[in-house]
Amino acid sequence: MRTAIYIHFPFCLKKCLYCDFDSSARRELAPPEYVALLLKEMELRQAQLAEPAGSATLYFGGGTPSLMAPELVGRLIDAAAARFGLASGAEVTLEANPGTLSPEKLAGYRTAGVNRISLGIQSFEDRLLSRLGRVHTAGEAIAAFEAARRAGFDNISIDLMHSLPEQSLRQWREALARAIALGAEHVSAYALSVEEGTPFAALLAAGKLPLPEEEEAARMFEATVQLLSEAGYRQYEISNFARPGRHSRHNGVYWRRQSYLGFGAGAHSFLNLDGLGRRWKNDVDPTRYAQAIRRGVLPEEEPEQLTLEQAVSESFFLGLRLLDGLDLARLESRFGGQALAPHVAEAARLEASGALIREGSSIRLAPGMVIVANSVFSRFL
Ligand code: SF4
Repeated sequence: MRTAIYIHFPFCLKKCLYCDFDSSARRELAPPEYVALLLKEMELRQAQLAEPAGSATLYFGGGTPSLMAPELVGRLIDAAAARFGLASGAEVTLEANPGTLSPEKLAGYRTAGVNRISLGIQSFEDRLLSRLGRVHTAGEAIAAFEAARRAGFDNISIDLMHSLPEQSLRQWREALARAIALGAEHVSAYALSVEEGTPFAALLAAGKLPLPEEEEAARMFEATVQLLSEAGYRQYEISNFARPGRHSRHNGVYWRRQSYLGFGAGAHSFLNLDGLGRRWKNDVDPTRYAQAIRRGVLPEEEPEQLTLEQAVSESFFLGLRLLDGLDLARLESRFGGQALAPHVAEAARLEASGALIREGSSIRLAPGMVIVANSVFSRFL
């Protein structure tokens, strides 16, 4: 059974003002205690699998997994190898907050088996970083990147955000130029999205979050594609750009509806053994998560067996996120022509309107539509 492994570390030094991820600054459990629970969860999950697993990717996400000491990360990598067949050449990514790193720690992660670092830089301007509630400065982020290189990481991804309060197009272009000058292998560039329940949502409602106008935000997206493409990055997903061969193999698993096992409070899992898939989520509350694991119970919630209709729908709107698009012939052999027919008809309408491009049996987003991709995806829901 092929599966990817995701390990969620839900604690942060401080909650960023825009963040609605499953993370908190309360840190109910110390990292060694939390890692002991993760190891136990892996044992419980392995015992439940019907057949041995083989894994080609492991991803530490959060939260702030770089709050874990390298030795703890190493124990988790070893456990993933022993229990879920993590291959020796596997992609092992650790999300890292620049405010939590040191040269020694980075060297420790490399020795422990991490071979890809995803640095949450977000901005190269201290004024914007402080506005976002980030715990690091731009100088610390650049120093962390350079220290990661010196520690032997030849595969570094950086996260950047645009459409920030009072951010101009010129400033965003400068941020992209800084990212290119650093020489990251991979760039994830996201527009700020103001999510319900966050401090940013309250500021927006109070008229205290001066976001760029829609046209300005669109120009920032266009500048992202233009500058990164000119610098040799390939846009392979709506918000993701990579040097040749340096795309995220782990994230590709999500977009292709392949299996992944998630560990930790709030982690999501998806097992696709029947072509349709079953998904579930772990209890998001670290205390309840810990109680369940200590009782020897997997803290699964909201299990869902997908229907044929859901599986087809997901295949379209996830597959179209990839700029290479998807292959209708392959989907037909998986799901059958009858199940596919309404979506194929929708794809034909979108092709006629210029939103999709068809080549042979493949369809993909037309270049001008990437910026409004969500409106295209919604047609397949
Ligand atoms: S560091 Fe990341 S996960 Fe933690 S609060 Fe900030 S954005 Fe959220």
